[in-house]
Amino acid sequence: MLKPLKKDILKRLTIAAVDASNNAFHPITPKGVGAAVLTTEDEIFQGCNVQTTISGLGVCAEQCAIYHAVANGKYDYKAVAVYFPSEKFIKPCGMCLQLINEFSQVINKDIIIVMINNKNKFKFTSVNKELKDGYGPRVAGKNISAYAKNK
Ligand SMILES: [Zn+2]
Repeated sequence: MLKPLKKDILKRLTIAAVDASNNAFHPITPKGVGAAVLTTEDEIFQGCNVQTTISGLGVCAEQCAIYHAVANGKYDYKAVAVYFPSEKFIKPCGMCLQLINEFSQVINKDIIIVMINNKNKFKFTSVNKELKDGYGPRVAGKNISAYAKNK
């Protein structure tokens, strides 16, 4: 059972994800998506979706946030939040779940997924729940212990 996130952390994740959604590059769809990754050290890294007219070049907000954290040398996460400016909650897509799963194996712990809507309401799930027994570096026999800073 994952430890629930504290209210102040949820507030910080919401602000970061909403802020990032405002910077999304979304010429294809009317609304942008924002995301925020929470590290095990309670640092937050934002990301937004980037769409392109040529398919396959764009990136989801969750991936962008994870790449942002990686670029800052952070590989161990407690949570990934995703914000969509609608009453509807959106869940990370399959590719994002796979990417989150890869990083859950860095410290061999589940990662909370927080879905935030435009009413500042939350829905919670986790990568292990959404992608049970997912394939990743540990399953493939790769030694990724060098990336685990907070074991
Ligand atoms: Zn995605």
